[in-house]
Amino acid sequence: MGDAPSQPEKMPHAVCIPYPAQGHVTPMMKLAKLLRFYGFRITFVNTHFNHKRLLRSGAVVPSEAADPGFRFESIPDGLPPSETDATQDVPSLCHSISKHALLPFLDLLRRFNTDSGDAPPVSCIVSDGSMSFTLDAARELRIPEVVLRTSSACGFMGYLHYQHLIDRGLTPLKHESDITNGFLDTPIDWVPGMKNMRLRDFPSFIRTTDRDDIMLNYCNRQAQRSTLAAAVIFNTFDELEGPVLEAMAAILPPMYTVGPLSLLLQHHQIPDALASLRSNLWKEESGCLEWLDGRAPGSVVYVNFGSITVMSYEQLVEFAWGLVDSEYEFLWVIRPDLVQGHAPALPVEFLEKTRERGMLASWCPQEEVLGHAAVGGFLTHSGWNSTLESIVGGVPMLSWPFFSEQQTNCRYACTEWGNGMEIDNNVRREEVEGLIRKLMGNGEKGREMRRRAAGWKEAAERAAQPGGSSFLNLARLVDLLRDF
Ligand code: UDP
Repeated sequence: MGDAPSQPEKMPHAVCIPYPAQGHVTPMMKLAKLLRFYGFRITFVNTHFNHKRLLRSGAVVPSEAADPGFRFESIPDGLPPSETDATQDVPSLCHSISKHALLPFLDLLRRFNTDSGDAPPVSCIVSDGSMSFTLDAARELRIPEVVLRTSSACGFMGYLHYQHLIDRGLTPLKHESDITNGFLDTPIDWVPGMKNMRLRDFPSFIRTTDRDDIMLNYCNRQAQRSTLAAAVIFNTFDELEGPVLEAMAAILPPMYTVGPLSLLLQHHQIPDALASLRSNLWKEESGCLEWLDGRAPGSVVYVNFGSITVMSYEQLVEFAWGLVDSEYEFLWVIRPDLVQGHAPALPVEFLEKTRERGMLASWCPQEEVLGHAAVGGFLTHSGWNSTLESIVGGVPMLSWPFFSEQQTNCRYACTEWGNGMEIDNNVRREEVEGLIRKLMGNGEKGREMRRRAAGWKEAAERAAQPGGSSFLNLARLVDLLRDF
């Protein structure tokens, strides 16, 4: 381990608490592993619901056997108990957490500080920035807190400007029709560090006519409250988001860009017991990597819309035929709850075609898939983790953003980073087919996107290797947390 204090009672003890969704648990787990490597005692706090899911998926083991210095605890999320593997409804979860999670979290912290067995007292809280009730607990118990924002910096800058959009009367929308009548194309040129933005490129919760909308208010409040933390951590790197990070530095407490966290983990000698901790809430289906092994380099379209996106059956069918008609091979992950309502099976003709040139799965080891040489393009919803994993793999993207800051990520991929193209929300098979051909083919656009994707892969590697910006920022962050 990296430079750990030898006496356990002197060991810094970080309580890491992610927002309870896949795209938040994963980066928090990576950061926690790195802190553990640098000698921190870690308590990782999930909700009861997600803790049970991590046990069921085999991502973590029930006891502390893996690494006694890395322990799991859980608190209720306030929603009715459930044993399913379905994604929780995001607005209900946000509402419930802000009402119900503070007291159990305070109890947990008090328990550590009075009756902690062999654990040292809690020296810092590393909280997801969307769990700002933890700041109240930190203040009450006088424990320093830093927050991890798991979105892109550009996405977070969007949330930070929700209040400005409200003050300027741009959201809530005046009429439902503003979503389709061109109003969302209003250029927004006054956000520092952000170019080429339109109202539609802001995180999607502005698309409401209700001033009491749970998500608009929740995200606005959580973003504002991140300014109260001792520091803000981002899973991004300076070269990728320079202008927006510079502008944000004027608004936020000290910032630490430590992404891609997955590459930082590769550049540290993480012991096996720690490395074996995973964060997948779904059980990975085996066979995807083996299937890819049999495919030519750059020949496969990988399709995955992440852990929360839902679509209609009609949209699923449009994607299906677009894929088949493109005549490229594909690996498509269809989460059991991807389709709204009780979805009928995919058309038989499609399944027959799939046998010839596709593989369907329910959940896969995405980082490994995107790192596989056979994958030539990624049809994605532009979640931040997926975007970053695609950058690490050097894979260009075709984006169908669903919600939250996916719209902003998609915009940046298309206009700033040059490694993405967008599919219209009203998805049609001809468009899917045409864009996949562009993405995978040898035309000018495809070649240019691959060139840009390869450039970003190298830039990510530069940031994460020893001496790189993210590697050095992690060391600064570790110093800060040790000094608390
Ligand atoms: N993921 C995975 N296997 C899958 C689907 C998703 O491992 O089949 C992981 C993916 O690698 C990423 C996370 O789930 O780390 C999804 O996070 P993201 O921010 O991309 O999207 P969200 O699920 O939050 O919409």
